[in-house]
Amino acid sequence: MGNVLAFCESSGASLKSSALANLAFARAAAEKHGGEVIILLVGSEASAAGADAARYAGKVITVDDGALEHFMAETYAPIVTRLAKEQGASVVCATANSVGKDLLPRVAFALDAAMASDISGLVDKNQFKRPILAGNAYSTVELSTDTICVTVRQSEFDPAQPLDAAGAVESAPAGDIDALGAEVVRVESSKSDRPDLNDADVVVSGGRGMKSGDNFKVLEELADVLGAAMGASRAATDAGMVPADWQVGQTGKIVAPNLYIAVAISGAIQHLAGMKGSKTIVAINKDPEAPIFQVADYGLVTTWEKAIPELVEELKKVKAANA
Ligand code: FAD
Repeated sequence: MGNVLAFCESSGASLKSSALANLAFARAAAEKHGGEVIILLVGSEASAAGADAARYAGKVITVDDGALEHFMAETYAPIVTRLAKEQGASVVCATANSVGKDLLPRVAFALDAAMASDISGLVDKNQFKRPILAGNAYSTVELSTDTICVTVRQSEFDPAQPLDAAGAVESAPAGDIDALGAEVVRVESSKSDRPDLNDADVVVSGGRGMKSGDNFKVLEELADVLGAAMGASRAATDAGMVPADWQVGQTGKIVAPNLYIAVAISGAIQHLAGMKGSKTIVAINKDPEAPIFQVADYGLVTTWEKAIPELVEELKKVKAANA
């Protein structure tokens, strides 16, 4: 018997929606391990989201300290490690995003635990399915240590739903915080009213065929009508057309929105690895042979120059009619 310690991220008074796939996994793992799910929130104001997190698990532990304002694996990992031991966790899990991928290997090392990263399914107590070869094949891995660490591919688990009764929230001290000589020099983030790419319900992505950063404004207009987040292929981010943190794919963000609109993106396997879990995929490409059409639910063979302004205009009409 062992508990499942689910490290979750929060924003203000809410859990980030990217945590919900991790919690779906955590519940399934807790059932197999005969323990309970314990949510761990860490940050400078993590306790603000305690009540929201308690809707999803019987126990929530918050660790607040001003020195934890910015995520750093150096400072967060010892806290997760200590609480995993104190709480009798046989499983420590996190979402396989930039934070979870940075944090959990350190925790695994400190706990002397085996780790499975980016898992897409729970096969048995300590057996996991995970994608290999850019998502073109799956392997089943088995971890044989007493404590195990897992990062969970967000697109492969349906978000956990709230429980009937809220759990208890308690706080724990951060202990000595030592960044091991590392420091956050500055944070550069683009201010945007659009939803976060990881959490968005709708994503509009553009590729190299957009030709310039200026042309992305047309896509941004589409995103704003739909309340969507902006994404891009690596060819577009590498060319400096749009910020690097818009990149979707094997070496970018893995997203699984309800609607993914891929514009002027060919559909290379490395791009598909980041978005093919989307519920509905719409592709707009002038090349009818583009591989993106193989995964698209709806495809439009035309140029973006023609399709996007028309689409924006029609959507605006629909919105106005429903206002
Ligand atoms: P292209 O393949 O050049 O496609 C452009 C498309 O635009 C074409 O299909 C064309 O028909 C269409 N087009 C052109 N003009 C128009 C128009 N006017 N209207 C409509 N359509 C038009 N890529 C990622 O995206 N994400 C990753 O995470 C990633 N990781 C990688 C990791 C590794 C190790 C490697 C080797 C590669 C990785 N790549 C990744 C790169 C990937 O292999 C492709 O090169 C890249 O996805 C191509 O981007 P693209 O589809 O925008 O460009």
